[in-house]
Amino acid sequence: MAIYNPKSKKAEEFINDAEILETLAYAEANKNNVALIDEILDKARPKKTEAGYTCAGLSHREASVLLACDIPEKVEEIYRIAEEIKLAFYGNRIVIFAPLYLSNYCVNGCVYCPYHHQNKCIPRKKLTQDEVRAEVIALQDMGHKRLAIESGEDPVNNPIEYILECIKTIYSVHHKNGDIRRVNVNIAATTVENYRKLKEAGIGTYILFQETYHKESYETLHPTGPKHNYAYHTEAMDRAMEGGIDDVGLGVLFGLELYKYEFAGLLMHAEHLEAVFGVGPHTISVPRLKRADDINPDDFDNGIDDDTFAKITACIRLAVPYTGMIISTRESEEVRSRLLKLGISQVSGGSRTSVGGYTTEERPHDTEQFDVSDQRSLDEVVRWLMENGHIPSFCTACYREGRTGDRFMSLCKSGQILNCCHPNALMTLSEYLEDYASDATKEVGYATIERELERIPKEKVKEIAKQNIADIKNSNRRDFRF
Ligand code: SAM
Repeated sequence: MAIYNPKSKKAEEFINDAEILETLAYAEANKNNVALIDEILDKARPKKTEAGYTCAGLSHREASVLLACDIPEKVEEIYRIAEEIKLAFYGNRIVIFAPLYLSNYCVNGCVYCPYHHQNKCIPRKKLTQDEVRAEVIALQDMGHKRLAIESGEDPVNNPIEYILECIKTIYSVHHKNGDIRRVNVNIAATTVENYRKLKEAGIGTYILFQETYHKESYETLHPTGPKHNYAYHTEAMDRAMEGGIDDVGLGVLFGLELYKYEFAGLLMHAEHLEAVFGVGPHTISVPRLKRADDINPDDFDNGIDDDTFAKITACIRLAVPYTGMIISTRESEEVRSRLLKLGISQVSGGSRTSVGGYTTEERPHDTEQFDVSDQRSLDEVVRWLMENGHIPSFCTACYREGRTGDRFMSLCKSGQILNCCHPNALMTLSEYLEDYASDATKEVGYATIERELERIPKEKVKEIAKQNIADIKNSNRRDFRF
């Protein structure tokens, strides 16, 4: 039997089934233990320091106790602390991105994904470089600066060379004032050598969802294809980090397995990366299973309701305070509104989840990976964020200034965010307003910028930010950053 060891490089030792089951039993036994719950909540709260804030985070066991707890006032307290942490480390900024689907050719048999290779009804499509260019122009014309590329796994149709060529094309397109400044990559688990190539191609975060941490379920849900190999998939982030990628993004597809099991596994994965590489995941995504071409979520037994989903999100926020959290357009405006208060720091906007979806007037459904619940335009999402007190940010400065991995985490902890990320967000928002926004969004936007500029503590930084914003308004000068 595998023994639990967060420092091990073996999947079944750092995501250890026995440890998860013991954790769940411990959480169940203590879910009404108010003294323990208060102690855990106290540990999770951000503490003021001279420089800013610091936060201890929680172990997978501690966080699992909070997730199991159903005492209403304690759950409210979890939500309050989640919001405090979000504001302490990420402020009211929300980073914006869009997915770009390159190819839906896939050799895997994932039973929840319409791209599975037995699906003969879905048209198969792979973008040519001209089509990639056209998609990128459409995305730039919406105002996007940051993309997450998505692809099925198919070594013949979508080999790593194809992905690298697409990345090169994406970075090469500059339409009007448009510019894609960060390409995150969500492709299947691969080799250290290929991760090195992705790093050299200048990618931001490498994202790979575990789907489920439960080995047996994993094998049943991925019956055929290379993705069937649980260890290869689970150890992918280690290989990515060995290949030099220090920003990695974790995630579980909620709805496939029991959420408490997934939650403990997810946090153990984060602890493992911290233990081995000294830096936790850059982001955690919280996707839920959605209806798709030949997929009916009701066929899966482990769907979670909105309240449980909110609690999971808040508990992740408490456990890994410095990790960005992502919510996609799989979720409705209503759910996204709620989760934004519980720790989410990145959202997608104006998304289309089909291959070639951005270049058609009407939203195409034939090659869609899943139904999009939030179908608003990027302009509407940007305005909505501001009307709810957030700053939509198109900033990509950290990664371009080499502030990745533990250097990003140090910035997060240093209390310098208001002198760095905050002005960067405002400058990139002002680019968006000048180049792409509707009049209504522009009006709300400049009021937001004026108000938020005053929150920059360093006078010198405030002056420079004001000057740069004036330049953005009065000229075609772009891409200012601290
Ligand atoms: N093919 C890549 C891989 O194997 O990891 C990743 C790209 S895939 C386009 C991105 C993610 O979409 C998957 O990791 C999965 O979690 C999610 N996904 C697949 N089917 C879904 C569905 N029906 N509803 C919601 N999300 C789904």
